[in-house]
Amino acid sequence: MGVQQNRRSKARNRRRRAEVMKLEAPNLNECPKCHELKQPHMVCPSCGYYKDREVIAQKAE
Ligand SMILES: [Zn+2]
Repeated sequence: MGVQQNRRSKARNRRRRAEVMKLEAPNLNECPKCHELKQPHMVCPSCGYYKDREVIAQKAE
């Protein structure tokens, strides 16, 4: 059975997790309509379009 050799400190674990969060956070794709960056599988916050149709009505175009 494998036995843990050294216990990693809380600070060391948290520092590593912080790095992972940093890498995963900027999850953005380009909107095919207005070419702004948007989150994948979400309605575009800038033009309100998703899957070639307007989901959120915009005040001014
Ligand atoms: Zn858009």
